[in-house]
Amino acid sequence: MCSSAREMCEVKEEFDFLERTRLEFEKSVQFINAEVKHIEKGIVKRLEQPFRQLTVTFPVKMDDGSIEMFTGYLVQHSRSYEPTKGGIRYSPEVKLDLITALAFDMTLKCRVANLPYGGSKGGVCCDPKKMSQAEVERLTRRYTYEILPVLGPDACVPAPDIGTSEREMGIIYDTYKMLSPHSPYASAVVTGKPLSLGGSQGRREATAQGGAYVLEEAVKQGRIEGLSSLKDAAVVVQGFGNVGYNIANILYEDYGCRIVGLCDSKGGIYCQEGLNPKDVLDYKQNISSEKSVVGYNGLQPLTVEQLLTSPCDILIPAAKETQIVGALAKDIKAKVILELANGPTTNLAHKILIEKKVYVLPDILANAGGVTVSYFEWLQNKAGENWELGMVKEKLRKKMVTAYTNVVETAENYNLDLKSAAFVLAVSKEIEILTARGIFP
Ligand code: NAD
Repeated sequence: MCSSAREMCEVKEEFDFLERTRLEFEKSVQFINAEVKHIEKGIVKRLEQPFRQLTVTFPVKMDDGSIEMFTGYLVQHSRSYEPTKGGIRYSPEVKLDLITALAFDMTLKCRVANLPYGGSKGGVCCDPKKMSQAEVERLTRRYTYEILPVLGPDACVPAPDIGTSEREMGIIYDTYKMLSPHSPYASAVVTGKPLSLGGSQGRREATAQGGAYVLEEAVKQGRIEGLSSLKDAAVVVQGFGNVGYNIANILYEDYGCRIVGLCDSKGGIYCQEGLNPKDVLDYKQNISSEKSVVGYNGLQPLTVEQLLTSPCDILIPAAKETQIVGALAKDIKAKVILELANGPTTNLAHKILIEKKVYVLPDILANAGGVTVSYFEWLQNKAGENWELGMVKEKLRKKMVTAYTNVVETAENYNLDLKSAAFVLAVSKEIEILTARGIFP
């Protein structure tokens, strides 16, 4: 890489996730322009903006008879391929900027994983932990109604994300089907559904399983300094929801890793000898009054920051964006970071980690397993098929290993770290598609 291109890669700390995505994108565009080929300015501008941002406000009747107003969003970033694909987030932190950044990331993720989708993301600003199941159901039905004009098996296909699960996906499907009774392949309107409604085997664990395949391949290829095997490797996981629990359990059961640290939003626990994720989940769900991992087996409670910097070989952020910041990065002891959350590391923290020779497997590669099995689910719904778990896992492994290999090749060809390489690869592919399609009319 020439020094001018290297200078373009200088970074500052950005705590705003949309700003982080914009900077990362700009950096890739500058790099491609300097080192690969000239990109037309108009194409860059086109990619900077989502093609549709829908904001909806709607009422929901609460259990006590009162009426609450909620704000929801559905952002579609690119129509290079349609439908657009992305998760639906329920969280008090949901706002338009965040959903827009996550939709942009989805486009890039689909290019890295080679899936024929544009990126989108949706969400409602709410706290599902403080709502009853019936309230969440009414909210989901009304939100689905509000976004109906853009929803459809060949238009926009949601999936689970923070605060949503199979249950909400089932409700979205049912609402869509009731309102569009003659839609063919209606079950393909949403993925991550319950199996009984056409969900795919392996979708619940897919994000974690895909990350495990990438990590396994990196270890097998001897890419991680000081880590030659996953057996007995010490693992710390941040976040103990769908993705966090499943990665801990897969690495424990299938690879013989030692799960030394776990945490959720209330704090963490650490045990050098290792934890059984299934036992910790049982404690969190059925014993803890706080519904937290904190307090498990009388272990000393840790703050999330203490957990992220505690001794381990593998650190897995699986909670939310902007968790590993510059001030923490210098104290991180892991040899490898598997980014299963979206955007967990700030640009400054990433730079510090790379200088420390930590091997960072970036989010748009590492967590693409979720959208990949969503793609398999969508294909099954359209074809009226049900694939066996073994087939889903084998196809997922193939996709993830190919994506990893392509990112590593790009990194080696251009002397880049994996995150920059994944962005350069994704942006280049997206530009190629947009250029080939041209502009309507
Ligand atoms: P989830 O709601 O099931 O779980 C989130 C977990 O993170 C919870 O245990 C919560 O307590 C914990 N958490 C929240 N804030 C925290 C904090 N500051 N410190 C520690 N823990 C905290 O969500 P999920 O579906 O597991 O998603 C987790 C991450 O993975 C998100 O970034 C999401 O965008 C990303 N992701 C999810 C999928 C998917 O298929 N579900 C796919 C790709 C990426």
